[in-house]
Amino acid sequence: MSTSSAVRHSPIATVNPYNNQLVREFPPMSREAVDNAAQRAHHAFQSWRRVGVDERAALVGRAARLLRERGEELAQLVTLEMGKLIGHSRAEMDLSARILQYCADEGPGLLADEPLELDGGSAAVVNDPLGVIVGAQPWNFPVYQVVRFAGPNLVLGNTILLKHASNTPQSALAMERLFTDAGIPQGVYTNLLITGSEVDRVVELDVVRGASLTGSERGGASVGAAAGRATKKSVLELGGSDPFVVLDGDNLEHTVDAAMAGRMHNMGQSCVSAKRLIVLSGAFDRFVAALAQRMRVLQPGDPADEATTLAPLSSDRAADKLSDQVLDALDKGAIAVVGGGRVDRPGAFMQPTVLVGVTPAMRAYHEELFGPVAVVHQVDSDDEAVALANDSPYGLGGAVFGSDLERARSVAHRIDSGMVWINHPTSSEPHLPFGGIKLSGYGRELSSVGFKEFANRKLVVTMPADTPITDALG
Ligand code: NAP
Repeated sequence: MSTSSAVRHSPIATVNPYNNQLVREFPPMSREAVDNAAQRAHHAFQSWRRVGVDERAALVGRAARLLRERGEELAQLVTLEMGKLIGHSRAEMDLSARILQYCADEGPGLLADEPLELDGGSAAVVNDPLGVIVGAQPWNFPVYQVVRFAGPNLVLGNTILLKHASNTPQSALAMERLFTDAGIPQGVYTNLLITGSEVDRVVELDVVRGASLTGSERGGASVGAAAGRATKKSVLELGGSDPFVVLDGDNLEHTVDAAMAGRMHNMGQSCVSAKRLIVLSGAFDRFVAALAQRMRVLQPGDPADEATTLAPLSSDRAADKLSDQVLDALDKGAIAVVGGGRVDRPGAFMQPTVLVGVTPAMRAYHEELFGPVAVVHQVDSDDEAVALANDSPYGLGGAVFGSDLERARSVAHRIDSGMVWINHPTSSEPHLPFGGIKLSGYGRELSSVGFKEFANRKLVVTMPADTPITDALG
């Protein structure tokens, strides 16, 4: 049942998806205010880049401590704005604080000069900041997505214009406040209350040196094109339809628990959710029955209540889209072992659903299903599992489960994606690179790799004053 009504409030607003009530709305910033903010970020860059990396890292460390102190308040806000189960919101705060702490502790070392061999002199790659970087972020992890982008860039010395999703404005403002209260100087981190349609113009402003978008292919293609037109660096972290391959029925209960965690964390609204479960024939029937059993017992309710196990999706529109994708599959012959439609109550609820018999003729085969819907495919061999895993326009994460680690590794190596985990759902840790290929985007966040995406990796060569000049000038 859809309870959506025409949007009559500002597009930038908190609407509680548990009951579809408007909580608070914000007028979008004017173009003039945005341009002034970009100029301030540019001026702030001139001094921020000269602050020592240790001092910048110390300020990010203070932000990590503040995030821990404000963890409960932020978790409640995230749950209010996008409907996440409160336990999942708390887990997001814990990971986010660990990411900021990692940036503070490891950043200066990761950004140290990198010496290179050179006959007759010395050379090094130094990691300079680039300038003002725009970050467009999605609502699904309103705090984690921000720190994943902002932490490394702040330690590196870039300044930030942060454009958060229009449905999480209070989380966006809370993050700006957090960095300000941690002592990050004025103009170094600025939240822009603007809609997605304004982002390309900001990316193309002269003072902006790079852009990162985490979100949909549509938004990513748009920002990537804007950055390309203006010859600026971009990083795109986009959607996924990750395979979760089950090679055998050993430890089946454990594997099904992992599949539930992989598919249902954040109600399935994670880029790296286990969206396509690919199970070898020997384990298929038992796997589907056990998964359906776990899905069936989930109870819808207020996501702020710890007893609730089925949260709403982020908005009524999101739940309608997912329901349309499921209906398309059912119309074309797929079977819903459990679920299959909206929950008949107010709020953006979708029934936990297990689909089998999904074929390439159905949207559910190719498209990302952003919610509590598991598609389970049956295959007869490892080769078939790999072929099906790779038959996707996406290539973000993936997981392979099996008791024979050699065999699992061999399958994992053949999966075309940016990340594969063996015997664990795809996850995120501060020191592990995160990102994908194909329509899942390009570039990486987190780890030593992500830290340098918006660095000017500048070569500095030093030769003695009397060095003979060669004519090999490139
Ligand atoms: P989205 O519509 O692309 O929104 C993401 C951000 O981009 C928002 O701030 C949005 O602003 C902005 N935006 C939207 N259209 C834009 C445009 N044409 N130009 C510039 N910016 C634009 O994405 P979403 O649907 O909210 O987020 C869910 C998607 O993100 C899923 O596909 C998920 O898999 C993906 N995701 C990927 C990763 C990863 O690391 N690979 C992580 C998390 C999520 P408005 O809100 O104002 O429209």
